[in-house]
Amino acid sequence: MVMDLPGATLLPGLIDSHVHATLRGGTSLSNGPQELSDVAAGNLRCAAQAGITTVRDCGSPGDSMIRLRDTATTGLPHCLVAGPSLTPPRGHAHSVGREVVGVRGLREAVHDLAKANVDWIKVIGCGGGTPGTDPLVSTYTADELRAVVETARAHGLPVTVHALNADTISLGLDAGVRHFEHGWLYQPGSTLAHGATLERLAATGVVICPTIWATAHRVPLLRRRLRDSPSDSQARADLDDALRRTDAVIRSVGDCYAAGVRLIAGTDAGWRDVGFGDLVDELLLLQRCGLSAVDALASATQVAADALGVGARRGRIAPGYTADLIAVAGDPTVDLEVLRRVQLTIIRGRSLDQSRQHHRQDT
Ligand SMILES: [Zn+2]
Repeated sequence: MVMDLPGATLLPGLIDSHVHATLRGGTSLSNGPQELSDVAAGNLRCAAQAGITTVRDCGSPGDSMIRLRDTATTGLPHCLVAGPSLTPPRGHAHSVGREVVGVRGLREAVHDLAKANVDWIKVIGCGGGTPGTDPLVSTYTADELRAVVETARAHGLPVTVHALNADTISLGLDAGVRHFEHGWLYQPGSTLAHGATLERLAATGVVICPTIWATAHRVPLLRRRLRDSPSDSQARADLDDALRRTDAVIRSVGDCYAAGVRLIAGTDAGWRDVGFGDLVDELLLLQRCGLSAVDALASATQVAADALGVGARRGRIAPGYTADLIAVAGDPTVDLEVLRRVQLTIIRGRSLDQSRQHHRQDT
């Protein structure tokens, strides 16, 4: 097959390292597994249109994503799946999690997830946006996190920890954790010490998926709301809050990058209003943290593939690699915005248009 795409750039398919495919607008549907996998398939189709050929799902109820991964429909990205994230009772993200307490409970949960054939173990290390939880308070002790890491290692599974403050990151490092979701050192209003944590992060070869867009996406939404109703004082206060939080995250990620911490791109799609085609917004934010356009692209291709353990088959254009490719109109190493104009997505050697035809023939 020969294709002529003048002026286009061919790239490895993009990797979004942090999504929640079964969520829509931040809410989990409590309906049956069929509806969950329908929602996930719709969301992932949207990601594929935006040039995303691999996602890591960082928390979905039950075995919904495992089933979807294993029945991989043509036209959907490859999925790496954590299954339900481990969280304390009523803890952050419990709607897409499994509520677990204590070393024994955690070991048992990891055994179960390994048996269910997950690719990752995701642990909620502190509170978050879920009402009733506090982003500055850790949820598990270092001993409990170590139990997770050890049990997961025995099953050959990597562990990643949701951490929104320096103390939680530090506990994770004590426990042998080498991957963090968000991994933010600073929070407005927090006085937790972080200098030593930053040094340890850099020295340990840790990978952080900072999901800056998960915070920053509120800014354009609130600006729009204020434009429509300038006297909306709640929107004004929310915008100020979102700007302050975004600044803190950008400072944190910038410091991590400057210190040599490996960063991979993830959106947290499914959470609140984060969309499944928003990865380019995250890459633009990574640029604001000091990454060059090329480094930002690597955080969504090569560096991500290596960090996620699929670097021998994905994340590069090379002989022997899975044919996951995209073509964009223009040169993304000059301007990342051109990633919004994906002309072609090829997943497993099949272009999306072909997949659609194939799908029509099937049904
Ligand atoms: Zn998330």
